[in-house]
Amino acid sequence: MAERLLKCPVCEQYGHKDKMIREEDKRYYHVEYCHDRYLRDKEATRIENQQWDELYQYIIKLHDIIVLPKGNITRLKDLRAGFDTKSGKRERRWRNGPDFGLMLEAYKLAEDSIKWCIVNKLDGSNDTRAINYGISIMIDKLNEAFAGRKSKQQQKEQFEKTKVTDQDKTISSNINKNKNNKIDEMDISAFL
Ligand SMILES: [Zn+2]
Repeated sequence: MAERLLKCPVCEQYGHKDKMIREEDKRYYHVEYCHDRYLRDKEATRIENQQWDELYQYIIKLHDIIVLPKGNITRLKDLRAGFDTKSGKRERRWRNGPDFGLMLEAYKLAEDSIKWCIVNKLDGSNDTRAINYGISIMIDKLNEAFAGRKSKQQQKEQFEKTKVTDQDKTISSNINKNKNNKIDEMDISAFL
């Protein structure tokens, strides 16, 4: 009986079972490339969901509500997806806009302004319109949040570089110490 070939969900090609890995979704992925790709996508989705959850919790706390209205969710998810205009048509993209983590950073930068607006401009309301108002203020802070993230990243890279240089110095000074020890040993032996 002929072996039944399995379709890999990543490349959509058929493969032999012994060259594939079974995953928890009960599907088989090619050992080379496709399985790595599956794991990377899974991890990206895990981070995406976690960041969305943190953003959601932050917003409902900020506005003192129990659930975020659908209209606000759509606006945030559209912002995350991003849009392209192709031959005059607006097309929704996929995870092309600022991520939910960056939105949360921007919210924190905008927090005081939003709180001020809730009291002074929105008469304390927390309906869809009021939350939308907050989203607009947050959007104005996205570039600042992005710049902050980049400079943090650069600091981290600089720190890593300095760490490596320090390690190099320690290693080379140890080598020198060893050399000196050898010279000392030689010097002593010359007197023996
Ligand atoms: Zn494949």
